[in-house]
Amino acid sequence: MNDEDPLSFTHPTTQFRLLRSHSPPTVDGFPLEALTGEVECMACGSSAMNVDEIDHDDECDQADVHSRYWRETH
Ligand SMILES: [Zn+2]
Repeated sequence: MNDEDPLSFTHPTTQFRLLRSHSPPTVDGFPLEALTGEVECMACGSSAMNVDEIDHDDECDQADVHSRYWRETH
């Protein structure tokens, strides 16, 4: 899959994408195709509301990837 997200703010050597709603607002409260705020790890497919909170698979190459903010506060 080569689906570059133009809105990605993450480091170019890591692979994350911002999830969009695929259901009408009556289902999840988000307009169709709106960004939900969730970030998905393209290596293992896990997602969370924050790149630092993703529960990666044990074998995931990106399991130790965190935001600059996380690094500065831990
Ligand atoms: Zn991962």
